Parts: sequence; structure tokens; C-alpha cells
Amino acid sequence: MQNLKEIFVAEMRRSGLRLTENRLAIFKVLVEAKKPLSIQEIILAVGDGTHFTTVYRSIEAMAEVKILRTVSRGFKNLYELGEKFKPHHHHATCEKCGRTMEIHDPRLEKLMLELTMRAGLKPTTHQFELFGICRKCMKNMVK
Ligand SMILES: [Zn+2]
Ligand SMILES: [Zn+2]
Repeated sequence: MQNLKEIFVAEMRRSGLRLTENRLAIFKVLVEAKKPLSIQEIILAVGDGTHFTTVYRSIEAMAEVKILRTVSRGFKNLYELGEKFKPHHHHATCEKCGRTMEIHDPRLEKLMLELTMRAGLKPTTHQFELFGICRKCMKNMVK
């Protein structure tokens, strides 16, 4: 955590973003989180009568400079710490209970790169999310 916080402070400075209490609180919430969070979940976790607009603007600013990474999930965006803080990965999520596992697989990264270039694009970013139903939820369904 201390190490991550040092990176955070340095990245904020490098990006010219002011280090506010609110931004630090959002960062701490995302360090603790086991999966990408929605803005509502972040606001709830930050607590203390935090204003939606303040959190929203902070998240937007930090996502813009890639301190945070955006994960598209249906019509909404989720947020997690960017690749400066944790290695590049994807997610496999249970549709029923929301449990999320991280996927790290170099074969996937190679394929993503190839597909992007074959489409005539210079690769920048990509999104890849897997969904299914976990064993625990499967068990509950047959009961
Ligand atoms: Zn589940
Ligand atoms: Zn990837």
C-alpha cells in the first residue's frame, strides 16, 4: 500500500493533477477493492457525505491520465487502478453474484495485438471481458 501510494502521488504530480482528499480516498478504495467498481460503489465506499459530482469529476480526471482504467460493463463503466499499479489483465465475472477473477494470459494479448493490426490499426488499448455463471451459483440454481 505504501509503495502504491508513492506511485500514486508521483503519477498525480506528473499528470498535473491536484492531490485532494477526495482523490486520495478514491485511490484507497480502489486499492482495497477486489474487482472493478462502479461510481456508485466508489461513492458508497468513500462515504462521509461525498458529493456525486466531486467523485465523478475526480474519477474522470484520473481515468483521463490513465491512473485509473475504465472497464466497460454493459451500459456502465467500472473503474480499477491503471497499469502503473497492477499488471495488465482482463476479467471473468459471474453474472449472478458478481464474483470477478483476473485473467492473465500472454496468448490473449498476442491475439489482441494481431487482430488490431490486421484491422489496420496501430494498437492502443483493448477491452475484453468474460461472463458466465460460477460453480457456487450453478449449485444454487439446481436446488
Ligand atoms: Zn456466482
Ligand atoms: Zn489485454
